[in-house]
Order: sequence, then C-alpha cells, then structure tokens
Amino acid sequence: MRLLLLIGALLMSTPAVAQPQNQGERPAWRLVIHGGAGVIERGRLTPEKDREIRAALDHALATGSAVLERGGSALDAVEAAVRELEDNPNFNAGRGAVFTYDGTIEHDASIMDGRDRRAGAVTGTSNTRHPISLARRVMENSPHVFLRGLGADQFSREQGLEQVPNEWFHTPERRRQLEEFRSRPSAESFDIDLKYGTVGAVAVDREGHVAAATSTGGLTGKRWGRIGDSPIIGAGTYADDRACAVSATGAGEFFIREGVAHEICARLRFTNDTAQEAADTVIREMHALGGTGGVIVVTPRGDGIYSFNTPGMYRGQASPAGRSVAIYGDEENQETVSAARGERG
Ligand code: ASP
Repeated sequence: MRLLLLIGALLMSTPAVAQPQNQGERPAWRLVIHGGAGVIERGRLTPEKDREIRAALDHALATGSAVLERGGSALDAVEAAVRELEDNPNFNAGRGAVFTYDGTIEHDASIMDGRDRRAGAVTGTSNTRHPISLARRVMENSPHVFLRGLGADQFSREQGLEQVPNEWFHTPERRRQLEEFRSRPSAESFDIDLKYGTVGAVAVDREGHVAAATSTGGLTGKRWGRIGDSPIIGAGTYADDRACAVSATGAGEFFIREGVAHEICARLRFTNDTAQEAADTVIREMHALGGTGGVIVVTPRGDGIYSFNTPGMYRGQASPAGRSVAIYGDEENQETVSAARGERG
C-alpha cells in the first residue's frame, strides 16, 4: 500500500513534459501559446468542443505567426495572439472569462518585453475589451507597471482603448459554473472543474528578442478582491532576453508563492539547466507546495517548451516549420515527432 502511495506521489509530482529542446539550428522565430491547464481529459470534451478549441488555438497561432513571419517583434506577436484568445468565449479571458462571486467579470493581464524588461499589468478591470492591450499601454504610456480596478479602467478610457459593457463578457456557460460554485456548501477556493482557462503567449522574434503575455478572468467565484498570478510580473509572466519568456496558468496562489515565471528565468541564467529542465524543476517545486498548472517557455535561442502537472493543457506552437496544437497530456509524443520532422524539413 505504502509503495503504491509512493509511486502515486512520484507520478503526481512529475510534470507532464512535452516538447523537447528544439536542438540544432535556431528557428527564425517561434511562438508558443496556452489556453489554460487542468483536468482536461479525453471524454470530458465533446468532439465538437475539441475541434473548436483546436481551431481557436490554431487561429491565434496563425495571427501571431503572421507578425513574426513579416519581421515583427515578439511583443507585437504575443499581444496579437492573446487578443484572439481574449475574444474567444472558450477561454477564461476577455469574453467568456469566469464570474466573480458577485456575478461580474474582472480581468487581469500582464505583458513583458525581454529586450529591456519593461512590463505592464492590470488587475480588476471591467470594461476594456482587450485587457492585454491595456497592460501594454500601461507599459508604454504610463510611468507605472501595475494599475488596478477603477483607475486602470479610467486610464484605459483615456488611452482610447475599446470599451464594452461588462455584460459583453458574460456567457451562459460561465454563469452556470458560478451557480454551481455558489451552490456548494463551502465555497472552495479553486475553479470548480479544476480547469484553468487563462490564456498566454510567449515568442522569440527574428532578432532573438523574447516577450510574454498572459490574460485571465481569474477563478470562478473569486471575491474579496482576490488577485492571482497572471497579472503579477515574476509569477504568471516574465520575459528577459538574457534567459527566456514565460507565461503560466494554474492555481495562482502557488505560482505567486513560488515566483514561477521569474524562477524559471533565473534558473536559466544561473544554472546549466535546459529550458525544459528549468521549467520542470520549478513546476515540481510549485507542486510540492500543493499547486497544479503549467507554463510555456521560449528562449532567445529558439527553444519552445511546455511543462505542466495537470492531465491536459490547451497549447500550441508555431515556427517557420509549421504549427501544432494539443490538448491532452498524452499528445506529447505525437507532437514531438511532428515538430522534429518539421524542423528537419
Ligand atoms: N492562474 C489563474 C489565476 O490564478 C487562473 C488560470 O490559470 O486560469 O487567476
């Protein structure tokens, strides 16, 4: 029995790794995206949903790739990819974000440029259609890094960003999830399906610069002004040309405590770890605190990897060799093979 428990614990604490290092020649550019990690298992999604999500991921990859292909910056590419995902109601960001306990939508987002480690972030915004673009405005057009709530909304209006009524973000499925959450005897702190739908993108451009972006509604039924890791630079998002770019998804409290995104970059700077080793180690350490979730990482050398300790993660990546998307943990090998083939061809 003990042995079984031990094996179980070891399995649980081993991050489900995917993509290997993309060894050999550095690709001209690379984009990696996620649409959330969690208990995403075969049989839980209808075939239509499965197709819809793959198509949405592919579409976001195509949008971001077009920027990189024509020589645009990693920063522009991650913003473009995340904006697509924010508009898609299948993900917990922008339209289709999860509800707070009070039945409103409050977005969090952050963005970072690896060239000079400039960063911008917002929390608790209610009317900006694209919170990721607001985070970018904070970075570029304000002397600050992090704005919250009403002030962030006001800055957004002053910047002329598109405003929509809060109801525009509402979807029936998220309403149902909130009702289910509220009907529980004691409201649990994490998403009811243990399915985190936050979206994110990391990219390296033709010049070898990296950038990261993350956008979310947080957790279903969040209250008391709860803020997760997604808008926190160093926890949910980090980009540094000296190391890598990271975007995270999962149980935010643990990602904050571990400082996941910064920790992965620090390991790359100060150890001999590969990107995969650095990410796996940090995800394992975060898991040891009790957290679940995953990250996407790119390096200035063009590596693109995933690491997650959940059964699945909505994810995809693109380079001049092509695009691939995946949902379940067991798609790793297949994806690896096709990516490796693509790199050679
Ligand atoms: N990390 C997000 C949060 O804790 C949730 C998610 O990844 O979906 O707010």
